[in-house]
Amino acid sequence: MTIEQYVPAVALRGMTIMPDMIIHFDLSRPKSIQAIERSLMNDQKVFLVTQKDMEEKEPDFDKLYNIGTLALIKQVTKLPNGIVRVLVEGIERARLLSIEEEEEEYIHAIIELVETDYDGIDQAEEEGMLRYIKELFIQYGNYYPKLGKTLLQHFDEYTRLGKLLDQIIINMPLSYGKKQAVLEALHIKQRYELVSQTLYNESEIAKVKTHLTEEIKGRIEKNQREYLLREQMNFIREELGENDTFSDADQFEQELAKIEADKEIKDKIAKGISRFKSIAGSSSESAVERGYLETLLELPWDRVSKDNKNLKKAEAILQADHYGLEKVKERILEFLAVRTLTSKGNSPIICLVGPPGTGKTSIAKSVAKALNKKYIRISLGGVRDEAEIRGHRKTYVGAMPGRIATGLKQAGVKNPLMLLDEIDKVSSDYKGDTSSALLEVLDSEQNKFFRDHYVELPIDLSEVLFLATANSLTDIPRPLLDRMEIIEVNSYTSNEKFHIAKEHLLKKQLSKNGLTTKTLSISDSAIRGIIDSYTRESGVRELERKIGELCRKAAREILRDDKKTIKITGKNLSQYLGKEKFTKIKANENDEVGIVRGLAWTSVGGETLQIEVNIMPGKGEIELTGSMGDVMKESAKTGISYIRSVSSKYAIAIDYYKNHDFHIHIPEGAVPKDGPSAGITMATALLSAITGIPVKATVAMTGEITLRGRVLPIGGLKEKILAAKTAGIKTIIIPRLNEKDIYEISNEILEGLNIIYADNMETVIEQAFVKKPDTD
Ligand code: ADP
Repeated sequence: MTIEQYVPAVALRGMTIMPDMIIHFDLSRPKSIQAIERSLMNDQKVFLVTQKDMEEKEPDFDKLYNIGTLALIKQVTKLPNGIVRVLVEGIERARLLSIEEEEEEYIHAIIELVETDYDGIDQAEEEGMLRYIKELFIQYGNYYPKLGKTLLQHFDEYTRLGKLLDQIIINMPLSYGKKQAVLEALHIKQRYELVSQTLYNESEIAKVKTHLTEEIKGRIEKNQREYLLREQMNFIREELGENDTFSDADQFEQELAKIEADKEIKDKIAKGISRFKSIAGSSSESAVERGYLETLLELPWDRVSKDNKNLKKAEAILQADHYGLEKVKERILEFLAVRTLTSKGNSPIICLVGPPGTGKTSIAKSVAKALNKKYIRISLGGVRDEAEIRGHRKTYVGAMPGRIATGLKQAGVKNPLMLLDEIDKVSSDYKGDTSSALLEVLDSEQNKFFRDHYVELPIDLSEVLFLATANSLTDIPRPLLDRMEIIEVNSYTSNEKFHIAKEHLLKKQLSKNGLTTKTLSISDSAIRGIIDSYTRESGVRELERKIGELCRKAAREILRDDKKTIKITGKNLSQYLGKEKFTKIKANENDEVGIVRGLAWTSVGGETLQIEVNIMPGKGEIELTGSMGDVMKESAKTGISYIRSVSSKYAIAIDYYKNHDFHIHIPEGAVPKDGPSAGITMATALLSAITGIPVKATVAMTGEITLRGRVLPIGGLKEKILAAKTAGIKTIIIPRLNEKDIYEISNEILEGLNIIYADNMETVIEQAFVKKPDTD
């Protein structure tokens, strides 16, 4: 199955880049440069695709070839006049599915990787082709000895023909059209024919050419040639040398005069410029210095943008972009109100915590819009090296400023909204402590003088409005957590999802795919159908994808069958999306002994889990299996101790524990679970197994247990209740001390549920067991 990927793309003029090709080229179009910058902020991947017409300034989808190459950016150097030189390595062929330009100022491509097709070719045939190609290449190498030698040395390393054919084409001096043709030849047979034909033709041409050159070469006297070359070299030096450096330095000086910054900073830049003048134009040192000066001149220093202070307008924007999310919206408006009244004030650092796809990133974007701030997103997922936050020292080869400084440079003002996405996913390794670098960024005492190793000058971050997102609180280092204000963003109910889909996602996807409500209508029952039968998630990301899929399919149908409108309803939904993926999970059918449904809360939302206990004759051993973390194991043991301590009450024989083994199991779910909140569930299952009394199938429970059988409060109540409801549970036992949290949960969720508050295990047992256990 192929997977769609979203990547920034660069349209290439007059060149084609193939997989495994390492090459550098220059970019001048702002869109292309934006794409590179965007890619550097993420995973450094970029999709390179050739445009059909070299002259086209703004190629759209039709003006680009269908097949291009997904590549990794290895190095980026800035050259004068806004030109950027990038070094890339091709990774794999990819097909361009569509492009989105929308708000971004670069081409955003949706691609799928494509592999070489070996259909109908067996091993012997492939080997035969390999050998013939080798022969042809040796012949060709006679005329291009340098080229031929290096590749021939590595010939035998290629076990697959596809890669070898690519390598040959990469190494041959061919026009880009020829390379593109080979790139597009996905079937091996087709590629083989193209390459062998080319090799043959080129050899023939080379043969004629060599003959001619040799004749001419003989005529030119050796020293005459040398003289000619020397003159040329001098000329080139003059053209590139000193003069160039001077004009660059002049430009830097002009820019320096324009920027708004402290004297200390201006002095430092001025010094840098005079050092730049003194070094030769072509040396690598000069390139480093040039890059450094450019960074300093591009940083915003004291430049600010004007914030929107109109509360009403801000509120309208926030309301229009997102359904629900009241707490976030309220907090932002409060912040704005305080700011307007006091005309300053430390910006709070708000961290939105919740399962994926619940709109954390997108509301941040909308907050920026509401406050009229520049929006910069820094994704911290997988950042391990401190230097990614704080930059590399300038003396390193290929040194770059860190992500914070780069973000600020991109914003162009010192008061943007900076989103630190997935702050719970940073980790530290031997290369330094990322979280302490972040701490410095977020600490209002220190961030006025944030130091980036590359920039070397203090950068003022105190006016940046930071927002952070995270999936789970437990993974955020404590000191970081202390500096942030946490707002929880919860899973959506089906009804909330329905509204989000209808009022937001549908419109967005329609316009993205060039459709309108006239050309495609998706009925309410179809939307509910997608939510219930095609997605199972806390947020709405998959839902949005499914709607996108419907739009794409409809667009295709409209063009293919020349239709005017398409109507998707609950009935014909499966024609578009295929078989239903999920059926409703049901509560246990029957009341059973030793099986109890618990509720868990993980970083991706709530889940129900079934706890099973078996008891068999034995020696009193306890076995715990399944996806249990350490805390869970401890709470299982606490449960056992409690049950043992009350044995006499439930008329359990004294030697019962000596003569039996106990096995508690929690079936593996998609996400490993840990935490104390399954305590009462395990204890109930255990007592049920011992007494042989079944537990009601329609009951689910959550709560921590103490040794004395008290029930302690737990977290993630809304998510858990939502999960129980989805699973068809009717009665939910929760700790009495969580009663206050119930008031924050909307009636829509609570409707039809019987919530029971328990102070101690006795209540739990009374409510969960189908009949009262015998007591002494
Ligand atoms: P997160 O950052 O929480 O993982 P995203 O912000 O990427 O999630 O949201 C995924 C998609 O769902 C986005 O397209 C977003 O606009 C949409 N979305 C999520 N919640 C809402 C909402 N309450 N109203 C409108 N759209 C929403």
